[in-house]
Amino acid sequence: MTNTKNTSATTPVYGSEEMKHSAPSQTIPEHSTTPEIAYRMVKDETFAETQPRLNLATFVTTYMDDYATRLMNESIAINYIDQTEYPRVAVIASRCINMVANLWNSPEEAESKTGAVGIGSSEACMLGGVAAWLRWRKRRMEEGKPHDKPNLVMSTGMQVVWEKFCQLWQIELRQVPLTRTNRTLCAKEALKMCDENTICIVPIAGVTWTGLNDDIETLNHELDAYNKMTGYDIPIHVDAASGGFILPFINPEHKWDFRLKWVKSISTSGHKYGLVYPGLGWVVWRDKSYLPDEMSFSVNYLGAEVTQVGLNFSRPAAQILGQYYNFLRLGWEGYHAIQRNAMDIAQYCHERIGKMECFEVYNDEVVNPLFIWSLSEEYERKAKWTLYDLQAKLQESGWMVPAYTMPKDIEDMVVMRIVVRQGMSRDMADMLLKDIENAVAELDKLKHPTLSREKYNNQEKQHGKVFTH
Ligand SMILES: *Cc1c(COP(=O)(O)O)cnc(C)c1O
Repeated sequence: MTNTKNTSATTPVYGSEEMKHSAPSQTIPEHSTTPEIAYRMVKDETFAETQPRLNLATFVTTYMDDYATRLMNESIAINYIDQTEYPRVAVIASRCINMVANLWNSPEEAESKTGAVGIGSSEACMLGGVAAWLRWRKRRMEEGKPHDKPNLVMSTGMQVVWEKFCQLWQIELRQVPLTRTNRTLCAKEALKMCDENTICIVPIAGVTWTGLNDDIETLNHELDAYNKMTGYDIPIHVDAASGGFILPFINPEHKWDFRLKWVKSISTSGHKYGLVYPGLGWVVWRDKSYLPDEMSFSVNYLGAEVTQVGLNFSRPAAQILGQYYNFLRLGWEGYHAIQRNAMDIAQYCHERIGKMECFEVYNDEVVNPLFIWSLSEEYERKAKWTLYDLQAKLQESGWMVPAYTMPKDIEDMVVMRIVVRQGMSRDMADMLLKDIENAVAELDKLKHPTLSREKYNNQEKQHGKVFTH
């Protein structure tokens, strides 16, 4: 950066040297500048991006109330790992783990339930996966059997964290394909992929791609018979990134959690339907015996012996306090009311979108506050546009509604998804629906196919695929 020595507290922000040069991108600028100028430069750079509340692509919280925001801002300087200095933060984290464990019907009687905090579901999934792998390995070693070829079974509807987990820990990932008819993990197919080296099966509550739930009760039932027959001890880890905070409030009778015998660990994102700003995740084990001792690490240089389970060391405490605030502020009733509204608004959008001639919803029912849809067969044949064009059109009015292709085996299917979260009112839904209708009306006026339509049609021709839904 050029000489900005002349910048002083009285320099007008937009009259400064900094504002007439490109932003530094390679080296740290030589000179200091005023806080106002630095603030404006950072702020302005991100100014034009999608408003978080109109971002219907994300599952992650974009609204918290003023007190939550204040509480979290006030604790922004607190490092969770410094448990000697901030012992109450650790106590509050452990209360949150208890509350989450009880929400999932943990059978553990200890006053402190066995669980851990993570930066998101990704860390929580990794911890659940590592624990399953170490338990399997211990058992194999005790039996004097080889333990160098672990595998994990789940559907192709998995989130990318499981690919990371299997790659980083060198575990073979066995995937049950989702197809047009098998829309969730098929228990029978999953068991066919299992063997003595299977460390766990991972069903998903709230599949990222579709919004559906794997049938965990049936899986548990079939797995029970399978484990009895084979003498194996294959457990279930539930990836409940979204569902962990939906099912207990929307469908408390439904059994997917520790009420099922083979469910030994569950992970969720506190920053998704736990309603906390990013990043926060939780993992809970059925009881202490499912968390291998090797996963707890102690350090003694923080002023006392501190024992912790996690991939990260330092992490912000603010989200943990935000989660506890939500539990106190909202209570079961509050969570229920918010999730119920999200469900109702998602159902309303689902119904309206399903009635539009150009669209076809993927599933008749909405089981989580999100859903996907595709172009109707007729439109796929005659339309001059694709859902990617609609995505771009909606972005003009500020909405981010993503279009994407489904996982392998059904990757020729392009869908669009909306995730309804706290902060999306019925009025906003009406605005969105109006914007979708207007965008479709405009796209329908096109005389020539868009680039994305041409590309899609060419691909379809090359692969000799027919349009079926
Ligand atoms: C979002 C998601 C994850 C990853 O969660 P983060 O909290 O973003 O780390 C894992 N699994 C599923 C099913 C998800 O939806």
